[in-house]
Amino acid sequence: MRYSHNFPKTLKQAPKAAESVNHKLLVQAGFIDQLMSGSWTLLPLGFRVVTKINDIIREELDKTGAQEMLMPLLHPKEIWKETGRWDKARDIMYQLKKDDKEYGLSFTHEEIVMYLITKLYVSPKEFPIKIYHFSTKFRYEPRAKSGILRAREFLMKDLYSAHLTKDDMYKYYWEVAESYFKIFKRIGFDVKIVEAGGGVFTENITHEFQVLSDQGEDTIFYCDNCDFAQNKEIFKGKKGEICPKCRKGKMVEAKAIEVGNIFPLGTMYAEKMGGYYNDQSGQRKPVWLASYGIGPTRVLGTLVELFHDQKGIIWPKAVAPYLVHLISLGTDEQAEKVYRELQESGMEVLYDDRDVSAGEKFADADLIGIPYRLVVSQRSGGKIEFKERTASNSELLTLQELLKKIK
Ligand SMILES: [Zn+2]
Repeated sequence: MRYSHNFPKTLKQAPKAAESVNHKLLVQAGFIDQLMSGSWTLLPLGFRVVTKINDIIREELDKTGAQEMLMPLLHPKEIWKETGRWDKARDIMYQLKKDDKEYGLSFTHEEIVMYLITKLYVSPKEFPIKIYHFSTKFRYEPRAKSGILRAREFLMKDLYSAHLTKDDMYKYYWEVAESYFKIFKRIGFDVKIVEAGGGVFTENITHEFQVLSDQGEDTIFYCDNCDFAQNKEIFKGKKGEICPKCRKGKMVEAKAIEVGNIFPLGTMYAEKMGGYYNDQSGQRKPVWLASYGIGPTRVLGTLVELFHDQKGIIWPKAVAPYLVHLISLGTDEQAEKVYRELQESGMEVLYDDRDVSAGEKFADADLIGIPYRLVVSQRSGGKIEFKERTASNSELLTLQELLKKIK
């Protein structure tokens, strides 16, 4: 991609009202734009990062046998009335009226999934059912601050699984938990799995995937010795206390950002919506449901909170919008050749071919945060100056040496 054609360019300054690092850097570097409080456009660079996050999620979930689909966002009131959540979730759900009919804008899809299962499944042999989609979610937030971390409209991957038995539900529940660890590791996060309450979803204990960060709006308590961790809302103890699980470690209090969650919902949705099957003895039994979310746009913001310095963003390679940032300094012919050859080798290249100063190009490269910076100039004598985003020194390489090094 030629940066001269990239929409839009970097801004000279971060927006004045921005309070969080992700808001400042993502806007200034041209990844996102704010339409109104809690509502964001993913600009081409931001969309590339989110697409990579989604591809990682998709790859790992497909390995668990889950199938991707797409469900509507505008829901009839009646279906939410069945579970009682039309009233229970009134504070967070956007509800609207048109021609005397009432609708809700989706903040989740349990009701729709249960509707599909009761309508479309043929026999108990089809279970377990594992279906997911990536779609927009709407959620009323009185304080939509923290940049793209807390929005009123955001992207969500939500997976739903339906099972004949509780054991089968929990078996898959923990399989998805393992899958989530793989997803977040590939993205670049060190996550903690934290016990939490289920809010308007369930009365069961649920689990959140939390990334430690001072910008986090969640407070968690975790053991410094074992894997025990709980959200502040359900942890009864204090920091510094002995861990109730291993009895060796001490409990640590920390701020964290929730990037994913999993809910063992149980049979409530089936009981309320008629999701029953007949078992081998002919007994009528409700279906067990679980749901699993990851917020790709929140992941985007979290990446920036974690990976940045004074100069800008530092993208992990797996989710970077491009792998290399090629800069031409007055040697367009040679740079064009390098650009062509990098593309032919399958490399994702952002090529700054603008007629602006070297200083401006270097500052923009640091702000945008692509992992490898390449400079072609008179000084480099036919070679290419190679520098990692976080390195202070560069080295001169031939194109062949460069390809070998990056691959
Ligand atoms: Zn412990």
